[in-house]
Amino acid sequence: MIPYGRQSISEEDIQAVVDVLKSDFLTQGPATRRFEEALEEACDVPHAIAVNSATSALHIGCLALGVGAGDLVWTTPTSFVASSNCALYCGADIDFVDIDPKTFNLSPQKLEEKLKQAKAKGRLPKLVIPVHLTGQPCDMAAIHALGQAYGFAIMEDASHCIGGKYKGVPIGACEYSDITVFSFHPVKIVTTAEGGACTTQDKGLAEKLKMLRTHGITRDETLMTEASHGPWYYQQTMLGYNYRMTELQAALGVSQMQRVHEFVARRHELAARYETLLADLPLDRPYQHPDSYSGYHLYVIQPHFDKLSKTHKQVFEELRAEGLGVNLHYIPIHTQPYYKGLGFKDGDFPAAEDYYAKSISIPLYHAMTEAQQDEVTAILKRVLT
Ligand SMILES: *Cc1c(COP(=O)(O)O)cnc(C)c1O
Repeated sequence: MIPYGRQSISEEDIQAVVDVLKSDFLTQGPATRRFEEALEEACDVPHAIAVNSATSALHIGCLALGVGAGDLVWTTPTSFVASSNCALYCGADIDFVDIDPKTFNLSPQKLEEKLKQAKAKGRLPKLVIPVHLTGQPCDMAAIHALGQAYGFAIMEDASHCIGGKYKGVPIGACEYSDITVFSFHPVKIVTTAEGGACTTQDKGLAEKLKMLRTHGITRDETLMTEASHGPWYYQQTMLGYNYRMTELQAALGVSQMQRVHEFVARRHELAARYETLLADLPLDRPYQHPDSYSGYHLYVIQPHFDKLSKTHKQVFEELRAEGLGVNLHYIPIHTQPYYKGLGFKDGDFPAAEDYYAKSISIPLYHAMTEAQQDEVTAILKRVLT
């Protein structure tokens, strides 16, 4: 089976983890800080806060931005459920903005229309979470301008996009947002097995995020409500969690981050190769906006089902039977039974539902060989023609 995504682990990565096991710290020590520094450098941002998953990063990101009961958070329906669950963890209400049919990202036009209606009803969102789907950055300048006009915060879910750029600036720099979140799950571009991070330009947000990942506790006297009682003293001033990253994960992350540009460059090479290899097949290849340098976490094709005698499901099953680990990113979140229980229904976000009905993620990962890519092409040819 050729998977749709796979981690690349080098001998140096393995040695980095083994070295940590022989060191004094197994959790949140010097390797965690080194990993954060690697993220700060790659993203050109003053603050990175590493945690145990992107899900945790999204949760504490919402909390640091003050999202709570009665607040409204908007995101895209075409994402992993974690992008919207984070608002529900905080007791906030969630709603969605439909996608742009070309980029598959949250549509700034639909966002503006929805904001106008929300303003008339007197219920504007406190936070909007754009997701850089497949690694292609959203139209952040447009979303940011709407944020200024309507007064909402912005948290980028960049789980697909480490190493990507928007208008030449690294994703994670937070040029158009308050916080950016990354995932380091093994299928993503850079891995720490499980792991995530928040980046921000704002020192106050960074301090809150650091406290929220470790029980709401601080040892920094400048953040305490009274003078320290002594060297043992710490204060809990908010309700936080244990979302710490281990040193094993962080050491793997430091080692992986040395290759982030190589990882993304190789994904671009493979994507460019697909452009030629798939050019004559009855399918749409992923559109790339000129402002975007994608992280290329995923390569999503849309076969021309109106001209094929097979359904989406049949094509999917035949590709799997031929040994292609194709997948589908994503089932629209609002159609999940849990979300239907909150009042959403089929038909609420037609562009996201149309995308779901047509899309297939085909293999793309750093360690993929050209021979494997030729095999993927041959299988697609057999199944689609
Ligand atoms: C993978 C992913 C997440 C969750 O990441 P974890 O690190 O597994 O918690 C969130 N959002 C998106 C868009 C993702 O792809």
